[in-house]
Amino acid sequence: MAKRIVLLLLLAALIGAFFAFGLNRYFSLEYLQSQRSALIAYRDAQPLLVAAGFFGVYVLVTALSIPGAAVLTLAAGAIFGVVWGTVLVSFASTAGATGAFLFARYLLRESIEGRYGDRLKAINAGIARDGAFYLFTLRLVPVIPFFLINLLLGLTQMRARTFFWVSQLGMLAGTIVYVNAGTQLAQLTSLRGILSPGLISAFVLLGIFPLVARKLVDTIKARRVYAQYSRPAHFDRNLIVIGGGSGGLVSAYIAAAVKAKVTLIERHKMGGDCLNTGCVPSKALIRSAKFASHLRRAGEFGFGNVSAKPDFARVMERVQSVVRTVEPHDSVERYTELGVEVREGTARLVDPWTVEIALHDGRTERLTARSIVIAAGAQPFVPPIPGLAEAGYLTSDTLWELRELPRRLVVLGGGPIGSELTQAFARLGAQVTQVEMLPRILLREDPEVSEAVRRRFVAEGIDVRVDTKAKAVVVENGQKFLICESSSASATQGSRGQGQDTRIPFDQIVVAVGRVARLKGYGLEELGIKATRSIEVNEFLQTNLPNIYAVGDVAGPYQFTHTAAHMAWYAAVNSLFEPLLPLRGGKFKVDYSVIPWATFTEPEVARVGLNETEAREKNIPYEVTTFDLAELDRAIADGEAHGLVKVLTEPGKDRILGVTIVGEHAGDLIAEYVLAMRHGLGLNKLLGTIHIYPTLAEANKYAAGQWKQAHKPETLLRFVERFHTWRRA
Ligand SMILES: Cc1cc2nc3c(=O)[nH]c(=O)nc-3n(C[C@H](O)[C@H](O)[C@H](O)COP(=O)(O)OP(=O)(O)OC[C@H]3O[C@@H](n4cnc5c(N)ncnc54)[C@H](O)[C@@H]3O)c2cc1C
Repeated sequence: MAKRIVLLLLLAALIGAFFAFGLNRYFSLEYLQSQRSALIAYRDAQPLLVAAGFFGVYVLVTALSIPGAAVLTLAAGAIFGVVWGTVLVSFASTAGATGAFLFARYLLRESIEGRYGDRLKAINAGIARDGAFYLFTLRLVPVIPFFLINLLLGLTQMRARTFFWVSQLGMLAGTIVYVNAGTQLAQLTSLRGILSPGLISAFVLLGIFPLVARKLVDTIKARRVYAQYSRPAHFDRNLIVIGGGSGGLVSAYIAAAVKAKVTLIERHKMGGDCLNTGCVPSKALIRSAKFASHLRRAGEFGFGNVSAKPDFARVMERVQSVVRTVEPHDSVERYTELGVEVREGTARLVDPWTVEIALHDGRTERLTARSIVIAAGAQPFVPPIPGLAEAGYLTSDTLWELRELPRRLVVLGGGPIGSELTQAFARLGAQVTQVEMLPRILLREDPEVSEAVRRRFVAEGIDVRVDTKAKAVVVENGQKFLICESSSASATQGSRGQGQDTRIPFDQIVVAVGRVARLKGYGLEELGIKATRSIEVNEFLQTNLPNIYAVGDVAGPYQFTHTAAHMAWYAAVNSLFEPLLPLRGGKFKVDYSVIPWATFTEPEVARVGLNETEAREKNIPYEVTTFDLAELDRAIADGEAHGLVKVLTEPGKDRILGVTIVGEHAGDLIAEYVLAMRHGLGLNKLLGTIHIYPTLAEANKYAAGQWKQAHKPETLLRFVERFHTWRRA
């Protein structure tokens, strides 16, 4: 920081001295014309020295962004002639411009990135993709002043090397014109006439040529990926959607709503993961588990002698009945009514426009569509732990079939799904050991958030083992054991010490260590659709075959129902209206700027935007305001006076960078902050909004009040204090 300030002061002093000493008078056309003969005489006497001196002055002027480069370029023509003048100016101007670029980068980029990091992401992505082309155009077409281009690009992620050579190339034509004009110095009356309208037009054409050429290459490349296939003369459908989960249903619904002909193909159950094995059954299970925990707390609420043992089979039946109640929302009948043609069968991509469907009734059908949306979802990842398969395991796909509560349950995984299941099964009466190889559960959240959940788990009798790696499963005398290795010396959470193996006996084990995109068996490899951990898509959600899109868990980066639905809108609109979208400036870029999520443990955890850990990692300056839910009247009345609202704001401003809420109904409470962030409302606006008393939602306002308290206008308050004293007098 100190070095930066010294450099900034030095640059300011140099620029100040330039104007204070009136050096700018030497950089005028008139002065140059008056000194032309003298300069030529110097050159003849000391050619190398004059060339070196000229080069140095040129670099200094451009690096300091001082006006004078145009006159110096003319001087080069007058003193050194077209060839040597061009060589000197070409290198000096590029070196000076790169100097200015580096000064801006060193002095300002970090703080600008810190402040506007997220917003700069898109610009930097554009710079990485097309920056060289844009710079070339800007160098040729003088719409933005030379010095501003240097400074602005210094703030981006463009590599200095790229900046140097593109600048050198882009400025060459203009340099030659100016140097050549310098050879006719005596005839010049002003700097204005040097670039005639005809010449500017030629430069514009030259400038936009690379961009046009680039677009052409892109189009040819896009055509080439299709070259091996013959495109149908006409299409049976506008859109085919593969997968009837959250992403697929919304894609198909949007297509039908805008009157497109759309076919949705589902191979298993409509509603996908969320309805059948994910969000819906897990939340239904959590509800029963919460009821069990409330029964245990009956005394706290004024009831004596309440005891009820959960009937696990009935709980699981209730879970299924909840699924059945929601089912009609996602059913074939409903979607058919909405205008979607549904096929029950397994889809396979045959070529970029054709999908073959192995229908459940044994028939096969081939359909063509101009665009295809892949929404094939994800499946539980099962790590290759020796003995696991032989001993048998459950995943979020299969555990819903359980009707007998396991006495001893191991849950492998400390993420949201693992944690939700851990607490639910423990509350329903199982002895649960949660095993996580990382140092804490819910690792994506701030440490105190993970700790609050862990503490609650431990208080409820759950054995939470972090820093603990599952190595093998063994069965001895019919008894199953998970062999784990602990990598933590602290062993505070049940581990037995660093490097030691521990044996955890269990009756059932649930594997919840993450979900992997479904990438095999439906034609992705055959068509060469690029995928690593998930299908690769661009910002418009297109795969490398641009008429094929991918959304939801199969594409990531988030694996939530609401993000799958969010992506579906972009894929459906981009694919269906592609030819019309240039009218609005191009296709819609998927917007991940404000993505909320919740983990439905108790305490519930909800988040939107940055948390403290991420802000630190990304070097983003922030302030933290925390409101303790123990202070909230409604939380106290409900017996849920625990948790917090933690808001990150831009230093000195009320702009919200991110919020974490821990506590009862956190997932609902966060909605207000999601809205605020999405629409750029700051904490002052939240504070100025009436919240009903007594509600949990008041916590959001109190957090804003806390922020205001820390940012109260001290000077104004001192003044009004005097005002009131005067009024009393
Ligand atoms: C236990 C659990 C709890 C969860 N809780 C939440 C939560 O509370 N909130 C939340 O937002 N998210 C939650 N999720 C995540 C959520 O379920 C997923 O993010 C969401 O379902 C993804 O939707 P999708 O459309 O991408 O995929 P899916 O819902 O998986 O749908 C994909 C569909 O494609 C079908 N399919 C695949 N291949 C083919 C083929 N070749 N032909 C035809 N059909 C095919 C599959 O059968 C499937 O129905 C949870 C997940 C789990 C496992």
